[in-house]
Amino acid sequence: MARQPNIILINCDDLGFGDLGCYGSEVNDTPHLDRLAAEGTRFTEFYMASPVCSPSRGAMMCGCYPPRIGFDKFTKGWVLFPGSPEGLSTQETTFARSLKDAGYATQIVGKWHCGDQKEFLPTRHGFDHYYGLPYSNDMGRQKDRCIWPPLPLMRDEEVIEAQPDMASLTQRYVEESLRFMRDNKDGPFLLYFAHMYVHLPLIVPEHLAVRSRNGRYGAAVMAIDWATGMLMAELDRLGIADDTLILFTSDNGSKAGEWGGSNGELRGTKGTTFEGGQRLPLIARWPGKVPAGRVCEELCASLDLLPTFATLAGSSLGDKQIDGLDVSELLLGGDTSPREYFAYFFQSDLDAIRDQRFKLHIGRANRDVKPWGREAICELYDLKADPGETSNVAAEHPEVVARLQAAAAELNAKLGPDGSERRPVGMASQPCPLTEYDEKHPYFAAEYDLSEAG
Ligand code: MG
Repeated sequence: MARQPNIILINCDDLGFGDLGCYGSEVNDTPHLDRLAAEGTRFTEFYMASPVCSPSRGAMMCGCYPPRIGFDKFTKGWVLFPGSPEGLSTQETTFARSLKDAGYATQIVGKWHCGDQKEFLPTRHGFDHYYGLPYSNDMGRQKDRCIWPPLPLMRDEEVIEAQPDMASLTQRYVEESLRFMRDNKDGPFLLYFAHMYVHLPLIVPEHLAVRSRNGRYGAAVMAIDWATGMLMAELDRLGIADDTLILFTSDNGSKAGEWGGSNGELRGTKGTTFEGGQRLPLIARWPGKVPAGRVCEELCASLDLLPTFATLAGSSLGDKQIDGLDVSELLLGGDTSPREYFAYFFQSDLDAIRDQRFKLHIGRANRDVKPWGREAICELYDLKADPGETSNVAAEHPEVVARLQAAAAELNAKLGPDGSERRPVGMASQPCPLTEYDEKHPYFAAEYDLSEAG
């Protein structure tokens, strides 16, 4: 077998399809990411399996649609919150577990959001070490918004700090990452770098804020770009760039609007099953292996990372049914994706399904009704001609509608609300938050001075 590649997976939080220079942004400066794309392949039809954080991340880790692993919705909502009883079941096989079992050194730096109770932490899912936030950065104490216990910064399974300074946190993540790369330069290693940015609140370094052309949002994107450049430079310095596959993506689309983010020409935002919620940037670089300067328009998804990594590393997929497909041939220059369909789940409901060309919406939550009502719809969009989902062509393509309806029904029978292939989520017996507020403790002297969240 060929040498096992090092794998660096960079995942952003809420970075939209249109937020990078190489994806058309004219307001964010991303020279390092643009170079990464020029030296590798840029995918234009890559999807995350949910338009919100926890289901997206759990699905990516395990190669499964969220309902298959019980990550469709939780007792406290669509994502996990501090002290939620649910988490990623240790019965599931993550890509970290798969690679660790094949001899990789494994490290996660940054946001986890697949359960904050001890049995759900990254160290129980195949990561040797963990340094970062267990959930979103708006789940701490903020100005006018002290609804959560102090935001924990963790090392492995311990809280080492509360309410860490967000403006310097990305730099600390980079330091930790470089140390890990140096310590494991003989490889193989897996580094999963899960950014805090660009999730609200946007607390950014002053030196970037003054240079940004897009306010604090642009500064957060610059921090992501800088961090990528630092990892690339370290690979060069260590002489292991040619042995390393770097992947760059984001967990869900941008909220867009007033905050400065963009989903480009795509319709919808974070939290919706329109393209803007789930179609994300994916850049892949592996010199001499992944074609340089290529733009790939084939359909693929985060679900495919686990089986693809397993092929590249010669590692095991575990014994559970998954939804991911091995796209290693496509990654390495092949013409066609093995992925015939991709399904869009809104919590437990299958909202839409697409093939290589068409997307059929079959249902949609009505957020004007509480709890959210649901209406059946039939909207067909030709994504190749109309990626912005502006023109319903269902009446012109009844055979396509029928075929996609049948595919959706088949998947719904397996993974829908009463699906036969759903597996239970992990449940903690005595869940409790990782931190407690103590007004006298010096860590808690200051709340984050921005009230923005979400
Ligand atoms: Mg997110």
